[in-house]
Amino acid sequence: MGLLDGKNALVTGGSRGIGLAIALEFAAEGAEVAIADYASDEDNAEAVEKLKAAGSAGAFALKGDVSDPGFAKEAAARVKEAFGGCDILMNNAGVTADGLILRMKPEDFDRVIRINLNGAFYMTKEFSALMVKQRSGRIINMSSVSGVNGNPGQANYSSSKAGLIGLTKSAAKELGSRGITVNAIAPGFIDTPMTRKLSEKQIESSLERVPLGRMGEPEDIARLAAFLASDKASYITAQVICVDGGIVM
Ligand code: NAP
Repeated sequence: MGLLDGKNALVTGGSRGIGLAIALEFAAEGAEVAIADYASDEDNAEAVEKLKAAGSAGAFALKGDVSDPGFAKEAAARVKEAFGGCDILMNNAGVTADGLILRMKPEDFDRVIRINLNGAFYMTKEFSALMVKQRSGRIINMSSVSGVNGNPGQANYSSSKAGLIGLTKSAAKELGSRGITVNAIAPGFIDTPMTRKLSEKQIESSLERVPLGRMGEPEDIARLAAFLASDKASYITAQVICVDGGIVM
């Protein structure tokens, strides 16, 4: 018996990193899983093979940009066609374009907000329409400790992640009466392609802020996502849960 037997899910940014770990955990817990990602056809195909091996026989990938409202509409239609509805929306896709405010280009501010925040809004709009009809659903937004605490060099990213917390709480209030829960996960410093771009020095100084003294693994996030997506979490909504080795306290 899996936590998510009989459920289905869409995971954005599901071809690698935290998104892939979540998609695999959902599949291993019994869900049918689709991913929506900007990645290459080869990367998406490789992720789908892994999902099938993990237990999601009907896994498939949608290639597109979450910051395009038309893509969100198409994704909801394709998931409905394939799975008959949608039980779980995991808004995980995200990017960084770090720099101090004095040097940050307006286009780098806009792009990060558009993908990380607008993208989650477009997806929530389309997928919550399916969930409202079903009178059940789970929406999980991937925030960050950077959105909770702020972070120098990440004005764009932390603004987008703080915005996701507002989106989470408003959506939880709007959708609660329809049996839909909406929560946010705020990871700390997790070992993925996103953090592998950082220099040794940046990694060392980030680790100084972590009481547990090490980076987290994508699976640390995936286990919480699967719990929040399950029936066991049916009375948890509007929460921001940090999985960060103790950074936020
Ligand atoms: P990652 O390895 O860079 O993966 C991000 C995924 O999102 C990639 O598959 C990427 O596709 C996809 N993506 C990016 N822009 C997209 C778009 N416009 N439309 C569709 N897909 C898009 O990052 P990660 O570390 O796994 O991060 C996953 C989430 O966790 C992000 O929201 C991130 O902000 C958040 N987070 C990460 C950490 C951390 O320490 N790693 C900490 C806090 C929060 P491509 O392959 O095409 O780039």
